[in-house]
Amino acid sequence: MSGHPVVVVGGGVIGLSIAWRLVRRGQEVVVLERDRVGKAASRVAAGMLAAAAEVGFEEPELYDLCRHSLSEWPAFAEALEQESGLALDYRQFGTLVVADDRDAAEALRRGFRFQQEQGYPVEWLSGSEAIDREPMLSPRIVGAVSVPEDHAVDNRALLRALEQAIRLAGGIIREGVTVTDIRSDGPYPTVHTALHTAEYPTGHSTEDPTMQSTGHPTGQGSEVFVASQVVVAAGAWTSAIAGWPDGTKPALRPVKGQILELRMRPPFQLQHVVRGPRAYLVPRSDGRLIVGATSEEAGFDARMTVGGVYEVMDGAWEIVPGILDQDLLGVDVGFRPASPDHQPLIGYTTNPRIFLATGHYRHGIVLSVITALAAERMLLEGIPDPRVAAFSPGRL
Ligand SMILES: Cc1cc2nc3c(=O)[nH]c(=O)nc-3n(C[C@H](O)[C@H](O)[C@H](O)COP(=O)(O)OP(=O)(O)OC[C@H]3O[C@@H](n4cnc5c(N)ncnc54)[C@H](O)[C@@H]3O)c2cc1C
Repeated sequence: MSGHPVVVVGGGVIGLSIAWRLVRRGQEVVVLERDRVGKAASRVAAGMLAAAAEVGFEEPELYDLCRHSLSEWPAFAEALEQESGLALDYRQFGTLVVADDRDAAEALRRGFRFQQEQGYPVEWLSGSEAIDREPMLSPRIVGAVSVPEDHAVDNRALLRALEQAIRLAGGIIREGVTVTDIRSDGPYPTVHTALHTAEYPTGHSTEDPTMQSTGHPTGQGSEVFVASQVVVAAGAWTSAIAGWPDGTKPALRPVKGQILELRMRPPFQLQHVVRGPRAYLVPRSDGRLIVGATSEEAGFDARMTVGGVYEVMDGAWEIVPGILDQDLLGVDVGFRPASPDHQPLIGYTTNPRIFLATGHYRHGIVLSVITALAAERMLLEGIPDPRVAAFSPGRL
């Protein structure tokens, strides 16, 4: 035992999930978050826990990883609900992937055969069978795949529960603290920070990921944390942290997503997650409906645009026309953390005390569980987890 805590950099779903798994095992943990925890990509996400419906032919390893994670989700959710005392709205109604014309149906058929080959319990539905299951679907739907094992969670509730469970178990969460660099010249890594002394930043409106340019006062005070191990989970901002040994700096870029939040007005109701060729709809038990999302190479441009809203609505109303009459609650923008090959980076860097957990791109909510379980094993027991072996940062 070093007597030093594990320092987790970044309080998104990845950092918080790992912190919770460590702290509940008695490990001293400090989470450092430059804003408030749970405000970045993890808050904006739709909360789909998708394995079969998401992953294409070209990504079999990622598909397996999502599947492993999904299989761990129910036990993880149950333990988190118990330990936090908060409900996650973990919904197991399944997903309907729908096609609204012949071309889309053909593509869906190919995907369906692939899913069957992978042993996934999927079912082909005619248009009318799909509408029987989800009456708000458009009469134009010509075919659908039912994916009963692709679930959904209210990711905001998940973040609240993780924060609560960490605090209840004695973990320390420090907000408004920006990690500037991580140095590894001594026996233990040191994490260097700049403290926000004014109001916390309220968003991620920076054009530039260097964090000094956010317009928020930084450098008004700084602290150095000596860590037994460091977990870097800073999402799309990971590359802005300094101190990586030559040639090992992870290359992360933001992929912007705009997403809409609606309130369903009865009798309009959806039970399943519905995915079409150009949009998806994710219902919550409290009557909200999340509709997404754009995928834009726009750097850290946090603007909500008319074009973004139009693109999402145009894809969504074609499959569920009744959404045009629902209440619009808001539009959100988030930055998916994308690595060069769009696959996550999970594992130790060249320094055996610095663990990287980022690059989860479109799958961070579903993959938070497997990432946290693998990190728990690797950090606390020193045992590599074969399920994440293909995602070691060393591959890049
Ligand atoms: C529109 C949209 C829809 C999505 N839908 C889904 C979905 O349905 N299902 C799914 O599985 N995934 C989805 N995703 C992807 C998912 O949101 C991300 O993969 C996931 O949230 C990444 O989590 P994270 O913790 O790595 O990053 P973030 O949530 O971005 O957290 C990173 C944190 O690190 C902090 N930070 C950064 N730099 C520093 C620093 N130097 N010092 C201290 N703190 C720092 C940030 O402030 C932030 O709080 C979606 C994403 C978007 C944008």
